[in-house]
Amino acid sequence: MQTGKYYNQEVEIMDRSELDALVDERIRYTVDYAAENSLFYKKWFKEHGIRPADIRSHEDLLELPIISGKTIRENQPPVTKDFEFRMVDWKDVFTVHETSGTSGTPKSFFLTWEDWERYAEKYARSFMSQGFGTDDRVIVCASYGMNVGANTMTLAARNIGMTMIPEGKCTFPIRIMEAYKPTSIVGSIFKLIRLAKKMQDQGMEPADSSIQRLVIGGEGFAEESRNYVSEIWDCDVYNTYGNTEGTMCGECTDISGLHVPEDLVHMDVYDPHMDKFVKDGECGRLVLTTLLPIGAKSGNVLLNYDTEDTTVVMSREKCPCGRTHMKIMNPQREAETFWVSGTPFNRVDIEKGVFQRENMEYLTGEYEAFLYGGDDEGETTLRVSMECNDLHRYDEELIKENFLRSFFGYKKNLENAYIDGSMNILFNFAKPGELEFYRIKGRPKRIVDRR
Ligand SMILES: [Zn+2]
Repeated sequence: MQTGKYYNQEVEIMDRSELDALVDERIRYTVDYAAENSLFYKKWFKEHGIRPADIRSHEDLLELPIISGKTIRENQPPVTKDFEFRMVDWKDVFTVHETSGTSGTPKSFFLTWEDWERYAEKYARSFMSQGFGTDDRVIVCASYGMNVGANTMTLAARNIGMTMIPEGKCTFPIRIMEAYKPTSIVGSIFKLIRLAKKMQDQGMEPADSSIQRLVIGGEGFAEESRNYVSEIWDCDVYNTYGNTEGTMCGECTDISGLHVPEDLVHMDVYDPHMDKFVKDGECGRLVLTTLLPIGAKSGNVLLNYDTEDTTVVMSREKCPCGRTHMKIMNPQREAETFWVSGTPFNRVDIEKGVFQRENMEYLTGEYEAFLYGGDDEGETTLRVSMECNDLHRYDEELIKENFLRSFFGYKKNLENAYIDGSMNILFNFAKPGELEFYRIKGRPKRIVDRR
């Protein structure tokens, strides 16, 4: 059994003042590194009349314009001749990654071996904060493709000394569970629910399996759906937030927000106008800056990069786990936020309504929702489709009531719109396998705006 509970103790429990000083030092180095090594940043600093040397601390990042995925796409072929974000010679590029953008050309990322080691360290810290050690055998259900997560998690396992079973997806045969007695699985909420159902169909109770804890990667989820997964598997379920841009935050055993590896990635939370930071505890847009240790090299540095996710800084105080690195709330995708009657709601709010505990006696958890415009100006219809275990046995009134109570919980304006008729909510109950998203390849689109 692994004895130490930290992967990099010195850094993970560093005093706040020391940590802040380290962050500022690395901001200075990383800004200089970017300005010297990338075509994009050379031009960018010049165009904006900013001297890299004037960026001294994290507050100075406010002076730098914010870039986004669009900026990356506009500075790579076919728009420009070369990949202007690539910061090292081709001979130093270890891997190339693309993010499957929802529109247009995918963004390209160029990682050196050092970048891999830093990504892996972030995952190693997160795994160890969740209690993983040398006795663990982990099935990875995240894909080993152009997405960097599964690969760098696997490298993290080498660092910790644990065993990986790199399945890549959750459709593996159930004999894997019996043969290797895995202690954990990394996957999405829905993959873990489907796997549990498949095990039950074959006479194996997930709660009685060798699984000791589960790790969710990849997408925001409702607390209710986590609780449901935790119940059917009878173990703790930890969240991680990792992407090719290098976020890699993870919940520790305290499950009170995701620790940000602050010495390796800097995160600011901006107000909707993107011109100032919001206070801790307030929701805003998550903007990240890569941090490099002095002397380090990187194939890809991002300064003030808009993740297009929203979050809240929950704490910068020392956590009960001993770590001092700040904790953020499970980020939500801005692209999955929709506005009705001047009020926003996210996919996660729909998911929360579906996963109300009583509903799960009848539902599989799979859902999809559609937004339609009405006949009158400003009228909107939300149609929520939920998959039932058995269409001959479900309590329609109970599910509707639970959904609406949860959905309107913090959204009084939507409730008023529902009462005055400017927002209609329709429910549809489907047989297993009959939701529309099953007919479309790729990641299920849970909310489709057809207004
Ligand atoms: Zn902690």
